[in-house]
Amino acid sequence: MKLILLGAPGAGKGTQADISKTYGIPTISTGNMIREAMKNETEMGKQAKAYVDAGQLVPDSVVIGIVRERLSAEDCKNGFILDGFPRTIPQAEALAEMGVELDCALSIEVPDEEIVKRMSGRRVCGACGASYHTDFKRPAKADVCDQCGGALTRRKDDAPETVRERLEVYHTQTEPLKAFYEAQGKLRVVQGQEQVADTTRLTLAALEQVR
Ligand code: ADP
Ligand code: ZN
Repeated sequence: MKLILLGAPGAGKGTQADISKTYGIPTISTGNMIREAMKNETEMGKQAKAYVDAGQLVPDSVVIGIVRERLSAEDCKNGFILDGFPRTIPQAEALAEMGVELDCALSIEVPDEEIVKRMSGRRVCGACGASYHTDFKRPAKADVCDQCGGALTRRKDDAPETVRERLEVYHTQTEPLKAFYEAQGKLRVVQGQEQVADTTRLTLAALEQVR
C-alpha cells in the first residue's frame, strides 16, 4: 500500500496515519521530520525554522531531498503512508519522478472554521511526535504521551494567526493536488468526523475499495 494523505493542517492526517499499523508499513511525516531537525538544530532544521514558524512551506528542494532519502530505506519497500507530502505540485511531480506508483491519494476534508477550533486543543509529544487533543484524543495521563511518556506541548505554529496563514497556504498551494490526483483516478475523499474512530472507519472503508 502506497498512500498519501491530503488535507488541511489539523484535518487529522497524522491521526489517521496510525492505520499504517494495520498494514504493517511505516508512516513518513515530513512535518515530524522537519520538527525533529529543528529540535536537533541540524543545518536543514535551522533553514526550515523561519518558514515553519511563519506558517509557510519549507522550500520544495529541501523537502524533496529528505523524502527521497527516507523512501530509499529498507522498511519502505512494502509500502508507506506519506503524511504531509506532497504539498505542492512540484513535490508531487518529484515523487512521480522517483518512480513511486501510488495506490491512492486520500483527502480528509474538514471546514476551515472547524480546523481553527481544533488546533487550539492540539498537543504534540516533544519526544516521539505523537499527537493528541485536549477534547478529541486525550492521553491516558494528562500532558504525558501514551506511547513514550514524553511531555505534551502546544506547537508554536498552532497559534491562531499562524493557523490562518497555514490554511491560506493549504488552499493556494496544496489543494490543487486534489485535481492532480483526480486526473489519475487516484483521489479518494473522506469527510473528517468529530470522533477520530468515525473518521478511521470511513478511511478504512475508502481504502478497501482501492485494494
Ligand atoms: P500540519 O499540521 O500543517 O499538517 P505538519 O506537521 O505536516 O503540519 O507540518 C508543519 C510545517 O512543516 C508546515 O507548516 C511546513 O512549514 C513544514 N512542512 C511539512 N511538510 C512540508 C512539505 N511537504 N513541504 C513544505 N513544507 C512542509
Ligand atoms: Zn511520545
